[in-house]
Amino acid sequence: MSIIGHLINGEDIQLDEPKQSVFNPATGEAEKSVLLASASTVEQAIASAQAAFPQWRATPPIKRARIMFRFKELLEQNADEICRLIGQEHGKISHDAAGELQRGIENVEFACGAPQLLKGEHSRNVGPGIDSWSEFQPLGVVAGITPFNFPAMVPMWMFPLAIVCGNTFVLKPSERDPSSTLFIAKLLHQAGLPPGVLNVVNGDKIAVDTLLTDERVKAVSFVGSTPIAEYIYATASANGKRCQALGGAKNHAIIMPDADMDNAVNQLLGAAFGSSGERCMALSVAVAVGDEAADALVAKMKQAMTGLSVGAYDNASNDFGPVITCQHKDKVNGFISSAEQQGATVVVDGRNPKVEGYDNGYFVGATLIDGVTAEMDSYKAEIFGPVLQVVRVKTMQEAMQLIDDHEYGNGTCIFTRDGEAARYFSDHIQVGMVGINVPLPVPVAYHSFGGWKRSLFGDLHAYGPDGVRFYTKRKTITQRWPSSGVREGASFSFPS
Ligand code: NAD
Repeated sequence: MSIIGHLINGEDIQLDEPKQSVFNPATGEAEKSVLLASASTVEQAIASAQAAFPQWRATPPIKRARIMFRFKELLEQNADEICRLIGQEHGKISHDAAGELQRGIENVEFACGAPQLLKGEHSRNVGPGIDSWSEFQPLGVVAGITPFNFPAMVPMWMFPLAIVCGNTFVLKPSERDPSSTLFIAKLLHQAGLPPGVLNVVNGDKIAVDTLLTDERVKAVSFVGSTPIAEYIYATASANGKRCQALGGAKNHAIIMPDADMDNAVNQLLGAAFGSSGERCMALSVAVAVGDEAADALVAKMKQAMTGLSVGAYDNASNDFGPVITCQHKDKVNGFISSAEQQGATVVVDGRNPKVEGYDNGYFVGATLIDGVTAEMDSYKAEIFGPVLQVVRVKTMQEAMQLIDDHEYGNGTCIFTRDGEAARYFSDHIQVGMVGINVPLPVPVAYHSFGGWKRSLFGDLHAYGPDGVRFYTKRKTITQRWPSSGVREGASFSFPS
């Protein structure tokens, strides 16, 4: 069984440390195991990043960017291998893994603009003969902690931008599917990154806590579930670090009576069940306005769902794969059962589907539940599985109130033909990312990603322009070179 180690100072590191199995969720087999770093291993990675910082900080941004250009090419050349590694450990189908990788590459493309992004701000003659400018300096060693559901994309939301801004990085990927992340980090070294600028440590809470408390780490980016995000934000802040911690979600789509229902159904299929619903932007609740819209939606969804196929990652005709672990499969099935017990109707039941040749895989089929209410456990929680719940309301205001009352505020969307309704919705809804007839409004790499309420802890969103601000600190310089003959006396008030 192969062992997945760490990447510290540009070298593969295998130590005598505890291990955890890494499963193929389609077969249920433990095919590899991953080392769980001790505090001293993480400290070694931090020391390596710390040592690399002075020289990397002094490297011109254009030279940092050139490494990213080569990295992008290597990612494209190695796309099949990256998607295979994602599929083997996460379970997502090859076409979905390719989409994830592409979104990651777009963040590398954004990072290639480092010289432009770091130009700063300049004002001449802010006073007589006085110039002033702001520059954006790197923070030092920064850390990233990432979730299982996007093992390639989410790390690439973080380290390419942090690194081109002049920081050095320690990344702690998810211990459930670390291979693609590690492979990608090695490609960046192949592209010419000096040793120590990016280090990868695999591990669990021990590794994370070391990153959160070590005073050499200046900032922490986290993406994962809300309880952990809250802990990360509180601990990093208490230890004097800058922190952005992106958490969980419950994303609602409002289906207005005037919506193009066939289009809405097509969009909902991919947004609710794609990647087995294991996306923080997955649409998991359809809020139908009026019984006519609700009846039409449920009937058309039911019909469309008969054609969906769940299976293993390497068969591209499958629509989505297994969920991540056996425990998670049980949890998703438990939420479906609880909705049923609490009075909802399971219209399409995906519990325990038969997948030929994969009897031990962690599969849940696409599930549709009607008549869900805000009091039900399945409504309140983030299920993170291929389950779409339909809530019936009478008015758009009622639909918006439901969304605003939910603890999460990551993404949302409205399906309508009415521009006025759409504008009112995007203007007032208390959610960070909004789609108008667009089911997964994930911002492109040159905007920034983030939710509101308990979907994000911190002031700045991830990647894009906010990412540049997060990974740099502003320094403002005010400068005068007095000409030799002129000397002013002391002044005790601000110039007026
Ligand atoms: P998770 O919170 O279990 O794990 C995320 C990371 O935290 C992993 O690296 C893990 O090792 C670490 N971790 C887990 N428990 C910890 C603990 N007690 N102390 C310290 N570190 C700990 O999340 P997950 O199951 O890997 O990912 C799914 C979750 O991530 C979902 O809630 C999803 O909505 C969320 N997510 C959010 C976004 C976003 O942008 N808002 C994006 C992707 C995923």
